[in-house]
Amino acid sequence: MLTKGDFHIHSNASDGKYCPTEIIVLSKINQIDVISIADHNTTDGIKEAIEAGRNCGVSVVPAVELSTKYNNESVHLLGYFKNNFYENDTFQEILKLTKSHSYKELRKILKNYINLELKEGKLSVLEGINLLRCFGASVVLAHPMRISNKNIKQILNLPFDGIEAKYSNTDFNTSLYFINLALSKFSFYTAGSDFHSINSKNSKHSFIGTVYLNMHEIEHFFKNSGALLL
Ligand SMILES: [Zn+2]
Ligand SMILES: [Zn+2]
Repeated sequence: MLTKGDFHIHSNASDGKYCPTEIIVLSKINQIDVISIADHNTTDGIKEAIEAGRNCGVSVVPAVELSTKYNNESVHLLGYFKNNFYENDTFQEILKLTKSHSYKELRKILKNYINLELKEGKLSVLEGINLLRCFGASVVLAHPMRISNKNIKQILNLPFDGIEAKYSNTDFNTSLYFINLALSKFSFYTAGSDFHSINSKNSKHSFIGTVYLNMHEIEHFFKNSGALLL
């Protein structure tokens, strides 16, 4: 039975400090028994995390944090995969092009898979949602409390599966607001520390397990997201 889950952690496959194995060990030490490595526009850390997790009893949900924009504001989407489509060559190519800001090429490939909303540039939030869904992910709006008042209302009208209601340095009432919103409007919510490193100067992020889903919340998450547990 899983008791504590942190579903938003960065490894050195993107801008985190620690390799996936070290993250598994840090999770174990902190009694977190299920995690997601959700690196920016890459899934390169997942395989190592799954292997290390198997050796010390920490489960892993494959995930990614995709960069999109809404009215020029940067918006992050978390994709929790329901199958191994994230290993698909085309999806990997799409992530590479997103990471290298090669938007022209990216859009050329994408148009074979989803309806494009914009003609050029970074992916829109809706394009990001459709892309992740197309490759087998449940899609979560990452850290909604960090999005500007100007855009958040409209963004929350987009077809997410869930939202990251519990997040680093977020007060109880704000989390509760997003939990209620997630349960009334979407199908589930997640918790994420957005861990990057110990002694991070970025006060937005915190340590693994600072926020987490408890046993019942984890059950609800898996039941409603259909996410893989490896
Ligand atoms: Zn983010
Ligand atoms: Zn993040």
